Amino acid sequence: MDEVVVEIENAVVSYREDVALRGVSLTVRRGEFVGVIGPNGAGKTTLLTLVNGLGRLLAGRVRVLGKPLTPRNIHHIRTRVGYVAQVQNIDPRMPITVREVVMIGRYGQLGLLRRPTKADYEAVERALEMVGMSHLADRPIGHLSGGEQQRTAIARALAQEPEIFLLDEPTAFLDWRAQREILDLVREIHDRHRLTTLFVTHDLNALPRCDRVVLMKGGLIRSVGKPEEVLREDVLSELYDTPIHIIELDGKRVVLS
Ligand code: ATP
Repeated sequence: MDEVVVEIENAVVSYREDVALRGVSLTVRRGEFVGVIGPNGAGKTTLLTLVNGLGRLLAGRVRVLGKPLTPRNIHHIRTRVGYVAQVQNIDPRMPITVREVVMIGRYGQLGLLRRPTKADYEAVERALEMVGMSHLADRPIGHLSGGEQQRTAIARALAQEPEIFLLDEPTAFLDWRAQREILDLVREIHDRHRLTTLFVTHDLNALPRCDRVVLMKGGLIRSVGKPEEVLREDVLSELYDTPIHIIELDGKRVVLS
């Protein structure tokens, strides 16, 4: 049986008055690609923060890569977990290039005061190449399209050489083609590097091929299952509180509301 890399038991997380997770349990094994879906405010992003050590647990237990999230372990865990957030608004005057942003992915391992070595520069070039951004490496980060920014964010996470890959709505605000390219890229990276991936989205059509899908709502996991078991009209209509239809088009399932 494959090794368990994420173990969350009865996690409760609250931000002052809001309870974001109300007792959530999830086990993820090495190599799995897990989609996390649910309406806005369901607690999806908060679930990811537990895996990269940023979440504050009120109750419950979290183990990542076999280690409990204690202050002593957090640094080690965070260097092993790559995180890609939503497209950000970047100031076009920001004086930092694509290559420099990707190098930031190495600093967890480097420490801020050590100078990058040849191995670090090579890891950065490999990551840039993997996401198809080598030709834009010297471009200021604020002069990129949304899709190119997401590729850069993915390259930064990859330069870390992570074991766990977390993506939070990485295709939000991208046009159709850029969305498709990013989804294909994420799945390719997962397979090629044998990562364990958690992919969050509220958009059911922006979900790559998953081994399992987690359905969240109101700070709880409502169900977990293979895509064909849980991505059903009745289950999704209940989850999103609105009628949802699934149609087959060219062998692909398309979700309509
Ligand atoms: P979305 O799809 O809108 O991104 P989500 O499923 O990722 O939503 P979370 O961002 O995890 O949901 O939020 C869960 C709950 O916690 C929400 O009620 C939200 O308002 C609250 N929340 C999240 N972050 C904070 C914060 N930093 N401070 C206060 N409340 C927060």
